Amino acid sequence: MPLVATDDELVSLERMTGVLAVDAAAGTAEVLPGTPMDELGAQLVERGVAIDNYGDVDYQAIAGAIGTGTHGSGARLGNLSSILVGGTLVTGTGEAVRFTRDGHDASADLGQDALLPAAQVSLGALGIFTSLTLRVRPAYELHRTNWMTHIDWVLEHFHELVEANRCFDFYWYPRSDLAQVRMLNEPGDEPGIRPPGELRREETGPSYEILPNDRHLRFEEMEHMLPLDPELRAFREVRERVKAKHRTRVGWRVLVRTIAADDAMLSGAQGRPTMTIALLHNASLPHEHYFGDMEPLLLEHGGRPHWGKKHTMRAAQLAPLYLRWNEFARVREALDPDGVLRNEHLSELLIGSSEGA
Ligand SMILES: Cc1cc2nc3c(=O)[nH]c(=O)nc-3n(C[C@H](O)[C@H](O)[C@H](O)COP(=O)(O)OP(=O)(O)OC[C@H]3O[C@@H](n4cnc5c(N)ncnc54)[C@H](O)[C@@H]3O)c2cc1C
Repeated sequence: MPLVATDDELVSLERMTGVLAVDAAAGTAEVLPGTPMDELGAQLVERGVAIDNYGDVDYQAIAGAIGTGTHGSGARLGNLSSILVGGTLVTGTGEAVRFTRDGHDASADLGQDALLPAAQVSLGALGIFTSLTLRVRPAYELHRTNWMTHIDWVLEHFHELVEANRCFDFYWYPRSDLAQVRMLNEPGDEPGIRPPGELRREETGPSYEILPNDRHLRFEEMEHMLPLDPELRAFREVRERVKAKHRTRVGWRVLVRTIAADDAMLSGAQGRPTMTIALLHNASLPHEHYFGDMEPLLLEHGGRPHWGKKHTMRAAQLAPLYLRWNEFARVREALDPDGVLRNEHLSELLIGSSEGA
């Protein structure tokens, strides 16, 4: 996604890395924005703490992952933005603003509690995070099992799998109708569900090593956040349409995950328990026809597109999907009145034209 691309100035924070301080009693850690997710996990665990969840990979920097609302899976686990509880933001006017759960020290009149829920998913449009305070918990281990089973079994047991597991997701493979079920739980706290089929992989270790995967193949992806539906109606329609129209060209999988509701203004999980549907496609093949055909279906089911993945939405279509859209716009105008932080794409996403880019 062209969130970052610019012919103008691009700021890299890749040398601002590391964990600065941990307050285990308060359950917080102060970290630098460029810290890669894998280093973050290793440095936190040395201090006896960990974050709740990871996305599918750990190659991102923490500020980048937070910036787009990156998520893993787990009905009781929020996205990575939801663990942001404070930090420092250098705004479009060059002011360094400290913010916490209790308010912020900006001279701009934002409303005392507006900055945190605006900053949590802010696409770099409010300012540059120079430090982040994250919610952490005592370090923990996870036991992970990957099963290969038939999709019909997953559809029948979806609700139970979501409720019983700490982290659960599944991949559906269009050409075989098989599904890969992944369940991650703390050792001793496993629900004991054994899908019929083959146990492909099993491992136990520190959470930050067990949660993410290694990905070496290049793929394109479109993902929407939808209201959590135990009946999986949207997924069933996706499956029907892929089988009817796209299976000859689409061999890559469809991924279903869950996220707890949060209150960040531009979060895909804002205000509702959420499930996500992600369509993956071989990056060497054109994706426009496939994604273009599926996007309206996902929108009909209340989808909100992932900010960091493929979609065709612009401000006029996005605004009605977010209950707190106008609040975010007010904070953005106060912190970056001249639009120095926006590229053309961000202007189209957040304002509706590239003017002021
Ligand atoms: C292989 C792969 C797997 C993925 N898996 C998942 C997944 O499981 N779940 C999921 O939700 N997403 C996933 N993603 C998407 C990915 O997590 C996001 O695109 C993420 O934002 C990338 O982080 P980055 O560090 O590369 O950030 P960048 O691309 O550099 O930035 C992302 C956004 O954050 C902003 N930003 C970055 N740094 C700062 C800062 N210091 N201050 C303010 N704003 C900042 C940028 O302006 C931009 O808008 C995946 C992506 C890939 C390539």
